[in-house]
Amino acid sequence: MARISLVIPVLNEQESITLFYETMSEVMAGMRHDVEFVFVDDGSTDATLSILKRLHEKDPRVKAVSLSRNFGKEYALTAGFYHATGDAVIPMDVDMQDPPQLVATFVEHWENGAEMVIGVREDRLRDSRAKRWSSSLFYKVFRFLTKNMIEENAGDFRLMSRRIVQELLRFPESVRFNKGLYGCVGFSRVLVPYARPARQAGHSKWSGWKLWNFALDGITSFSTFPLRIWSYLGGSIALCGFLYALFLVLRTLFCGVDVPGYASIMVVTLTLGGLILLSLGIIGEYLGRIFEEVKRRPLFIVRQTIGFADDGATPAGGRRAPLSPDSDR
Ligand code: UDP
Ligand code: MG
Repeated sequence: MARISLVIPVLNEQESITLFYETMSEVMAGMRHDVEFVFVDDGSTDATLSILKRLHEKDPRVKAVSLSRNFGKEYALTAGFYHATGDAVIPMDVDMQDPPQLVATFVEHWENGAEMVIGVREDRLRDSRAKRWSSSLFYKVFRFLTKNMIEENAGDFRLMSRRIVQELLRFPESVRFNKGLYGCVGFSRVLVPYARPARQAGHSKWSGWKLWNFALDGITSFSTFPLRIWSYLGGSIALCGFLYALFLVLRTLFCGVDVPGYASIMVVTLTLGGLILLSLGIIGEYLGRIFEEVKRRPLFIVRQTIGFADDGATPAGGRRAPLSPDSDR
């Protein structure tokens, strides 16, 4: 019997876990597949972990990976992919924003041969206007920069075959932007549109500032276009400057010395100064990420696992095989 692993990152979700578990168990009861719930406790400080322990005692299909601190959703997901044992893996949010009923549709497409089945948010009316607008802008920019590598409005909610997860875990980067990495892996894909409901309980863990930094991580991990802009802009400004200098030299030669010019000097100095600082900032963004990459730190640190065959063994830190076969230099 094929096994489906649900990978669910949770950060302080004591209000949502039981409802998610009960709804999802019901959905899975209607299917003829084995299921495994891989909850990843991303450094919760509320009752999340004890609820997970209780659920595991009641139902051994519930497993948990508890991280040593809050690593962020991308890293919690990576830890979940690393520990999941299913033939198909489905990352889900615990707040019911990823409709449980859709899992059956995903699995159907998978059984018909799709290696990746992607949930596409068609209707996001429950999200705030600012969130919809910024996210649509992000998808447009990201797709332009990466030549449509990802699907528009596709989040983490999707089904991936074992093969795809295996390939995903071979990506060695430290700055993880899963939405982009899924696209990098390739293979055949099917899109399933759905309306995204509102969060059931608790509150969103993503502030505007966190989302902005997440978008920067995504763009700088997948495109060097922001670096290249400066070569073109610098080239055009240098050309204009050269032509203007030529004009000034000729004018001085033919019309004599002309002292006034404070305004033009200030405009040129301020504009160029601003552009230089901006370009340095963008180089800094990439430099900082190169720094993150060369350190090769573990992607996540596991405090404890619950319900896995090797509970109590040396916990995986996310850098050993199969995450990256040649990264243990
Ligand atoms: N989450 C996590 N670590 C974090 C932030 C969020 O594991 O640092 C989990 C969270 O518990 C939830 C999922 O990621 O299950 C999605 O988070 P949320 O619903 O807050 O995001 P939104 O839907 O508002 O984008
Ligand atoms: Mg949510």
